[in-house]
Amino acid sequence: MSKLAFTTVKQLKEKLEKKEVSHEELLDFFLKRFAEYDEKVDSALEIFDKESILEHYSAEGPLAGIPGVFKDNICQSGRVASCASKILENYRSTYDATVTRRMKEAGAFILGRANCDEFSMGTSTETSAFKKTKNPWDLSKIPGGSSGGSAAAVAAGLVPWALGSDTGGSIRHPAAFCGIVGLKPTYGLVSRYGLIAYGSSFDQIGPFSRSVYDNALVFSTLAGHDMKDSTSLFVNKKDYTANLTGTLKENLRIGVIEGALNAQGMDSEIALSVQEAVGVLKKLGAKVKKVSMPTLDYSAAAYFVISRAEAASNLARFDGVRYGMRSKDSETLHDMYFNTRHDGFGEEVKTRMMVGNYVLSAGHAGQFYENAKKVQRLIRGEFKNVFNDVDLLIMPSHSVPAFEFGAFDMNKLQMDLQDYFTCPMNLAGIPAISIPCGFTKKDNLPIGFQIIGPHLSEELIYQTAYAYEKETPWHTMTPEGF
Ligand code: GLN
Repeated sequence: MSKLAFTTVKQLKEKLEKKEVSHEELLDFFLKRFAEYDEKVDSALEIFDKESILEHYSAEGPLAGIPGVFKDNICQSGRVASCASKILENYRSTYDATVTRRMKEAGAFILGRANCDEFSMGTSTETSAFKKTKNPWDLSKIPGGSSGGSAAAVAAGLVPWALGSDTGGSIRHPAAFCGIVGLKPTYGLVSRYGLIAYGSSFDQIGPFSRSVYDNALVFSTLAGHDMKDSTSLFVNKKDYTANLTGTLKENLRIGVIEGALNAQGMDSEIALSVQEAVGVLKKLGAKVKKVSMPTLDYSAAAYFVISRAEAASNLARFDGVRYGMRSKDSETLHDMYFNTRHDGFGEEVKTRMMVGNYVLSAGHAGQFYENAKKVQRLIRGEFKNVFNDVDLLIMPSHSVPAFEFGAFDMNKLQMDLQDYFTCPMNLAGIPAISIPCGFTKKDNLPIGFQIIGPHLSEELIYQTAYAYEKETPWHTMTPEGF
């Protein structure tokens, strides 16, 4: 049975069809994986009991009997949705997010809630109020963030898929750090109904998995128009696995973002692995050229300002009145608000709300928020121009491999600058996938790179990623000790 641990969704489906294993056996098996191994990685905030999981499941559907976990900012009716924050520690959702409903209707087992940075604010999962998730490849290292619990659970073979959310890189970054596949979809392609907001104009839910095929399969359930989200695109549901032929689109033109490979602080092994990945795509027939995108140098700063502004506005609702915890011993209404927010939020979240209110305040909004929106328009324009010339773009997902806990405690800004590799795509609203492309020689830590495309190019991205994956061994490797 332990062979099941690192099998893909595709293989599990085959085993179910051949009746080699039953839905319930799979459920038992993966619940046992958590019971045995999650002590090591601390990926989950909660694993549900078997009876309650079975209550929510339907035996029909494309993902029937396939277990996974959700990042803890996605609402599941009757379950806690804490965003890894004290302020929502005991908050139970009264409804299902659209993705929850779709995954349930597809028959998937939702095993539990995965740890993350508090309200998705971070790059290492260290800002969670509850626990520190470890990287399965090296337990002394962080798993990346903010969806680090979801990524670690998949990488450790505790589940074959998980959902995360990506506002400035929070799916792609931990996917790269944990050696798995993660997609940040086109803005508006996956419903945000029931996703607790961080930066609403950037947030997208997306899947983690160990293979590109699995990712496309789960994505086929998630994506498509939803009436309940006013920013949802009018795109019908589709089968995103249909294009996975193993070959590249004819005359595929790929641009390699030059500045990203030579970025300051870029680890030479990561740069080399990404160049090798480009070599593989070339061998498969892609026409590759270098492209320069100078406005990307401003994207982390623009993202910093806009995401904080939106966070300040979104998190104003957690006030002790409408949701979550309320400070008990306050004499006045003002004290109640103050104490609830003071005790309920962690340092990172409070800092971001203060920065957000500052950049929006009269007298400063022009200098910060409005300028950041102008830079965002320039970045969008630059992507648009580049996509006249190439079909897809390549850049690393990160500049350094997984790092030690606390490595950036003294220099938070340096941690935020890692968003350079991922947040431009959130600013432009375009899709990007991170897939494994190697390991560092020194520490055997995973390396990932991104395939980026114009709006709604998910099918082309998956096709290209799948062809690459078929040529390379990285996705078959698993960490020791699990
Ligand atoms: N690291 C980024 C941040 O801290 C991205 C977070 C995210 O995508 N949720 O804002």
